[in-house]
Amino acid sequence: MNEIRSLLINDQWIVSLRGNKNQVNPLRPYGWLVEKERTITGKIEDTGIIFLTNRECPFHCLMCDLWKNTTDESVPVGAIPAQIEWALGQMPEVKHVKLYNSGSFFDIRAIPEEDYKEIASLLKNFKTVIVESHPRMINDKCLKFRNMLTPELHIALGLETVHHEILMKLNKQMTVDDFSNSVSFLTKNGIHSRAFILLRPPLLSESEGIYWAERSIDFAFSSGVECCTIIPVRGRNGAMDFLMKKGDFNLPHIKSLEEVLEYGIELKSGRVFADVWDLGIFSKCNKCIELRTKRLTEMNLSQEIITPIKCECNY
Ligand code: SF4
Ligand SMILES: [Zn+2]
Repeated sequence: MNEIRSLLINDQWIVSLRGNKNQVNPLRPYGWLVEKERTITGKIEDTGIIFLTNRECPFHCLMCDLWKNTTDESVPVGAIPAQIEWALGQMPEVKHVKLYNSGSFFDIRAIPEEDYKEIASLLKNFKTVIVESHPRMINDKCLKFRNMLTPELHIALGLETVHHEILMKLNKQMTVDDFSNSVSFLTKNGIHSRAFILLRPPLLSESEGIYWAERSIDFAFSSGVECCTIIPVRGRNGAMDFLMKKGDFNLPHIKSLEEVLEYGIELKSGRVFADVWDLGIFSKCNKCIELRTKRLTEMNLSQEIITPIKCECNY
């Protein structure tokens, strides 16, 4: 294992290395898309994702680049429902929707509590609503929002890694116990949770990255999550570029993502997905990148292992 170097990683250092934010409009989401996902009942159905524009997350995680599309100040009451209404008007009809807000849905400086009712009303015809949250922002507000909703509420929580020292270095300001306590709270209250797990955070080699992603999947399922999503670490936020130049961070390989996804699916403990956005950066072989992306996408949907890709880059 790599020596865990004594880098002083804190909010100030991370923020000092950032570039500029993108220009965003508080009355429009900064993006939306529709993708197929295997649902909790095993059906493959379209899921809409709305990338809400709101105030920046109060945490400053080392690997995070979500601040790029946020505002410095809270958006006014009514702006978030307006964004959702606008996005739903753009997208085809879907039964499931993810509201991703570059932070925590239950951060009231990002999503005003006064908006919960209108948001719930806009979502009344959906089957599932998935929001994201920092584990330490899981509290009674989740129940308040859930009680207003007709669709089932699922909450995605960043576990990131169960490697204690690396989790500290990520500046996530949480422990693995915070994560499992939040999952227990949600489970006790009948809310499904899913875990975001990083593949190869900084300061880990490729094989360590695989090992710790697999241990993190084990931990997430033993805590009670219903689903895990493996996210290959990308960087591109200033601090991560700095670490990359120093040799303290390298992009994981797409083959490692395949290996960890296979591991997770074989556990049969719940749904396991690989994040398949922008996978081209995780491979230097243009002969198989499309085939590997297709394989990962198909495994996400089928939750079965598909024949491995044969390519000269395997040898
Ligand atoms: S909690 Fe999530 S959104 Fe906030 S800084 Fe960390 S990774 Fe980014
Ligand atoms: Zn190849």
